[in-house]
Amino acid sequence: MKQCIAIDGPAGSGKSTMARLLAEKLGYLYIDTGAMYRALTAYFLANGVHYTDTQVLEKTLRKLLIEFIERNDTVEIKLEGNPMGEEIRSPQVDEHVSSVARIPEVRTYLRQLQRKLALSRPSVTEGRDIGTVILPDADLKIFLTASPTVRANRRFQQNKEKGLDTQYDTVLQNILERDSIDSTRKDAPLKKAKDAITVDTSSLSIDEVLGVLIDLVREERPWYGDISRKCKTGEQRNGNW
Ligand code: C5P
Repeated sequence: MKQCIAIDGPAGSGKSTMARLLAEKLGYLYIDTGAMYRALTAYFLANGVHYTDTQVLEKTLRKLLIEFIERNDTVEIKLEGNPMGEEIRSPQVDEHVSSVARIPEVRTYLRQLQRKLALSRPSVTEGRDIGTVILPDADLKIFLTASPTVRANRRFQQNKEKGLDTQYDTVLQNILERDSIDSTRKDAPLKKAKDAITVDTSSLSIDEVLGVLIDLVREERPWYGDISRKCKTGEQRNGNW
């Protein structure tokens, strides 16, 4: 049974949903590294921190009290003693987070913390550089992907459910922009690890993807290539992502 699982992929590919469900099913710790970049971004925006100024950034990071607290197999993030909640998912944070995450000082700051947490017990860690940089020796590496329109549609529906008034086109544009910044930055870009298995979730249901992942963790089925429509599937079963 594989105990150190890395899931990477672009925004809206289903990483969070799948990583959370998989961790729940296995009783592993679920680690959302995107939430850590989001928490820092929300903090910088709320406190007027000019994060593009290296001196200001370094001073802020040196003083910042950051805590990761395990609660019910998930990780609560506290900054300066304050739990970070839904504010890290705001459209404003969406807009700035990739610019914050591309800064090497920010990545160095979070890297060790993420690694330590992921190796502390059996875990499912999701992000952009988990299989390549944070956990290069992970037991199982998954690269989740889906077409940009499917990803934008999922995010748009999630926003609607949360009562956020966003336009589909704006969501799509933000996803494309983040993909571009995340995959072209110098430090730890969004990239499939050589030994990762790609799962294209565009036309798979949540249950189908979960089934594939559980099989991979339990080593019950050998997979010889990437996975897209190898599962029995209906054309449009993305409603609940
Ligand atoms: O996963 P999520 O979409 O919430 O991540 C928000 C942003 O955080 C990404 O667009 C990316 O810029 C950054 N990120 C990263 N490396 C990770 C996880 C997230 O650069 N491991």
